[in-house]
Amino acid sequence: MSEHAGKNPVEKFQRDEISDALFPVISREDQSFWIQSVDIGTADFPYIEPLLRESFAEWREQSGGFSPETEWFLFGHDGEAVAGDPNLLLRLKEEAEHAGWMALARRETVMVPSGGHLGEHMCTRMTLAVPIFTRSSGDVFAVLGCSVSENDSAGIKRAVEIGAAHFRTCFYRRLEYSFVYDTLYNRQAGTPGLNGDSALFRMVRRLYDKFNVEGVLEEMLRIVLMLHPSARCQLLMTQDYQSSNPHLQAFLLDQHKQGICTTSFMQGSVEVERIPTPEYPNRIEAALPLAGHQGVYGVFHFTIDAPTENPDTRLLGMISDTAGKAFENAKLYEQSNLLIRELLLINELTKRLNQNLQLSDVFSFAIQELVGIFRAEYCCIVKDNPAEQRFDVMACSLPELEGASFSRDYGFGGMVLQMHEPIIISDYLESSIPSRFMEVSEARSLIAAPLISNGKTMGAVLLAHGKDHYFSYDNFKLLQMLSTHIGLALSNATLHAELQRVANRDALTGLYVRRHLDEQIHTHQLEGSKGSLLVIDIDRFKQVNDTYGHQIGDSILQQVSAIVSDSIRTSDVSARWGGEELAVYFPETTLDEALMVAERIRSLIEQDTRPGVTVSCGVAEWSKEDLAISVESLFYRADMALYQAKNNGRNQIRTAMAD
Ligand code: GH3
Ligand code: MG
Ligand code: MG
Repeated sequence: MSEHAGKNPVEKFQRDEISDALFPVISREDQSFWIQSVDIGTADFPYIEPLLRESFAEWREQSGGFSPETEWFLFGHDGEAVAGDPNLLLRLKEEAEHAGWMALARRETVMVPSGGHLGEHMCTRMTLAVPIFTRSSGDVFAVLGCSVSENDSAGIKRAVEIGAAHFRTCFYRRLEYSFVYDTLYNRQAGTPGLNGDSALFRMVRRLYDKFNVEGVLEEMLRIVLMLHPSARCQLLMTQDYQSSNPHLQAFLLDQHKQGICTTSFMQGSVEVERIPTPEYPNRIEAALPLAGHQGVYGVFHFTIDAPTENPDTRLLGMISDTAGKAFENAKLYEQSNLLIRELLLINELTKRLNQNLQLSDVFSFAIQELVGIFRAEYCCIVKDNPAEQRFDVMACSLPELEGASFSRDYGFGGMVLQMHEPIIISDYLESSIPSRFMEVSEARSLIAAPLISNGKTMGAVLLAHGKDHYFSYDNFKLLQMLSTHIGLALSNATLHAELQRVANRDALTGLYVRRHLDEQIHTHQLEGSKGSLLVIDIDRFKQVNDTYGHQIGDSILQQVSAIVSDSIRTSDVSARWGGEELAVYFPETTLDEALMVAERIRSLIEQDTRPGVTVSCGVAEWSKEDLAISVESLFYRADMALYQAKNNGRNQIRTAMAD
């Protein structure tokens, strides 16, 4: 409480010669003490079960952002189940209890694998238990835990711990609420019109039920207007809030230099002053701080021109205290929700990457998540392409821009790539930068951040919304943080794709390797109805090597491979089958059709290779009607046909009979 200590408001009123009797002010310390010191001790533990259950139910309802497969349980200080998802308590009672006990004993988060082996796969369920500590004494009064389907990362552990911190906030909110309620209830005898059924009671309850920042502020306005219907109210906030509330204004300290608002803000105190004017000799102004544990968020300022009764400063102080804490809770709740989503996103991104997905899948997932997190309307991820002095759109929520490419100095994407810095644009209509993304979407707000990996800017992520001044500074900072992870994912996925490409290709010819060809044929034989295989062997290649040297030999191999690649469709698969033997698989193609392609290849090689070589070829086909279908038998028959071509004088094609 010491942060609000300082000048005692009582002294101020005495100096201002307004009597204590007229304005019964109590010090801020007294007002706040009861709510800030609200806590439970070990002696209360046996009685808090109903409160735990209520808080759990409320928290479960609010924490919908967690993955649906996650099942939760809550144990009391004695390790007994208090609440939980019924399925979990039935199926995994022992695991949960074991984890619960360990968390109680160790006073730290515990992760226990549950299950074991399922065939040759590890069962990937995990039981986590997080101890929940009291505010002041640090005793463990509950254990919150869950069973999750991941066993992969520290990310899940952090997400669950944040979930537990959020549950604790819910618990203390409930606890504080019951204190506020009791205190108001005790005052009812001395306060006319204030009883358990009064509107004020209901409003304080509603204040505590609000989970959104805006709702808390509206509720506070309503309460003060109910107490003083003729008051003119103003809510001065130090931070930038998107709000449609006409009473809400930015709190600019220099504008309110001398006023009671500044005093109230600086000292966290309730300030009430009589400011007589010729027209209203009894005019009263009041300023209530909107303060929580972590700071003062703003000041609630109101003026009553002709008060019929004196404001009850003690009551106002209590209301502002309650509102301040409700505001802070709502704010923390919004932040913790963001954080949980962010952690889950990072987890999911990493997971998807490990699942060996396509680069494009990683991007479309990122786009979908980013739009959700920032409540943006449009999102675009671009990748730098320095070789061509351009950047390419990797993924975009606008179909018009998918696959587009821009000059490296164009638009906001170009700007981020050049400056390696994030940008925020409040209103595109006032900006001089041309942007296709903003034009096509007709958006007005934009935030964009570089995707950085190993200190290099690899690309940029852009988010936009149709409304101007839509994104907050918090959004901007969060995007910066997320883009680090997306940058890493991008660089990993790019490397992964490159590695995949290299691993499947033969270094000399650029054709696929034999293993890849085998896999492709095997897959197609399971799914398709027919196909043909062509094997190609260079004639007397040993002699070519002996005559011209190995290097020229290599160059001929490359020339032959290039002719083969250029002669086939993209759906056909060409590979280096062995030393100087190549093969091409034609899916859904008959022997006769393959023969035509083979003949074209044979004659092109004869004409175009320098020094000139010829090839012999064997072709075989398979179809669904065959008795035995296998990659081996197809190769065997094509090889036999090749053998015949060699025996028959080379530079020719032979086909195999179906077996
Ligand atoms: P045939 O017409 O019967 O196929 O005669 P051939 O000389 O081509 O037959 P053989 O299979 O005996 O010889 C293949 C030769 O191909 C042997 C080897 O030196 C050469 N060779 C295999 N791989 C490479 C390569 O990567 N580069 C070069 N330059 N030569 C290779
Ligand atoms: Mg050979
Ligand atoms: Mg040969």
